[in-house]
Amino acid sequence: MNSTTRVLLIGAAGRMGKTVVALARNDRQIDIVAQCDLGDSIELAMENCDVAIDFSHADAITEVCRAALHHGRSLVIGTTGHSQEQRRTVEEAARSVAIVFASNFSVGVNVLFWLTRKAVELLGSDFDAEIIETHHKMKKDAPSGTAKTLAETLKAAQKTGHEIAIQSIREGDVVGEHTVIFSRPGERLELTHRAANREIFARGAVRAAKWIVGKPAGLYSMHDVLGL
Ligand code: NAD
Repeated sequence: MNSTTRVLLIGAAGRMGKTVVALARNDRQIDIVAQCDLGDSIELAMENCDVAIDFSHADAITEVCRAALHHGRSLVIGTTGHSQEQRRTVEEAARSVAIVFASNFSVGVNVLFWLTRKAVELLGSDFDAEIIETHHKMKKDAPSGTAKTLAETLKAAQKTGHEIAIQSIREGDVVGEHTVIFSRPGERLELTHRAANREIFARGAVRAAKWIVGKPAGLYSMHDVLGL
């Protein structure tokens, strides 16, 4: 039985793309059969893969979804910074193909999402919550996709309808840091995740690519992939 997952990598020349390529070299269950970057035809490149991993730019999403629908291929979307309309494009495509859409593929951050929900449940409503995120200067979107997911998680758990403040810092070569702060007069609780390298994201994306093949159409998260 051939259990190799054939992958098209979109955004292959970028920081995350190169990290996925390096990781896949040592993984016999993954074969990167095609790579594309800015200017290449995603639709042509998607023909002979089982799943496409997207670490490119939010503006590529229409072409990525159109190609996946045309060829009936699964998608793992790691790109962040999508507009509401672009997110709707993904939701629409997920009616016909299986898609993992995750603002952060690291196991640690997905546990942070879980802990954030749990903290709201245990601390109650008299704690204020805010988020601080720090990334390298080259990052194109702000706030980060992970900070937005944390804010949505907090909002859903608090049920007050209050917007959650996000402070974004862009400095040096920081791979990614996210802190959720809960405070009230007299006490403060901080939950922090620090990413030291990009391999943790690449590893999660590859795991999601192996997991999604053969799944029914639908929109999945890393929560589903990790079984959290
Ligand atoms: P990068 O700028 O280093 O690389 C992006 C690559 O995509 C570049 O080579 C660029 O030329 C290419 N590209 C741009 N538009 C394209 C298009 N229309 N079609 C094909 N290729 C295109 O960025 P990066 O640091 O590798 O990050 C890529 C994306 O992944 C960003 O949105 C980032 O926020 C996100 N990211 C997500 C996670 C996660 O765990 N989900 C982790 C890290 C980064």
